[in-house]
Amino acid sequence: SGPEVAALVASRVLDVPDFPVPGVLFKDLMPLFADGAVFREVTDRIVAHHGRDSFDVVVGIEARGFVVAAAVAYATGVGVVPVRKAGKLPRAAHSASYALEYGEATLQVHTDAFTAGHRVLVVDDVLATGGTAGATLDLVERAGGTVAGFTVLLELAFLGGRDRLAPRPVHALLTV
Ligand code: AMP
Repeated sequence: SGPEVAALVASRVLDVPDFPVPGVLFKDLMPLFADGAVFREVTDRIVAHHGRDSFDVVVGIEARGFVVAAAVAYATGVGVVPVRKAGKLPRAAHSASYALEYGEATLQVHTDAFTAGHRVLVVDDVLATGGTAGATLDLVERAGGTVAGFTVLLELAFLGGRDRLAPRPVHALLTV
């Protein structure tokens, strides 16, 4: 059930104060990825929530989102499309920039990443302010995909990401 998977995620997240900069409480999900049984259960819960026939491809956001995306893809037989930080993709790409606390970040996706109308499930590890996810959802649509859903393992509710992404729905296995 929802509360059970939330407890499972909570049991495999480590709080790291002042990383990568002072004042940030970093949520480290490496213990979850390192535990095979938990990682599999979490993957299966994501698939069950959306339904395995509700998406045609899964997008992972660099870099920890790649881990989640690959697992969901293998579990369902769909493929993975990476959304990458600027300058990493080798061919023609769409770019989307968003504000960080200091400065700006840019994400990219290949222009030919999606078959027109393909339903795209987007996954990442943590939702914080929602800037990363918002740029990713825009990129999916600009590249011709249809957003079928967005799931994170962990949502930091006090940073308002869900509101920023509204009306697009956010699914989080654990919200703190
Ligand atoms: P945001 O754009 O603010 O929603 O930040 C989300 C992205 O940054 C995700 O790709 C996360 O992996 C990462 N991130 C932001 N804040 C944290 C945090 N406190 N702990 C772990 N990862 C974070």
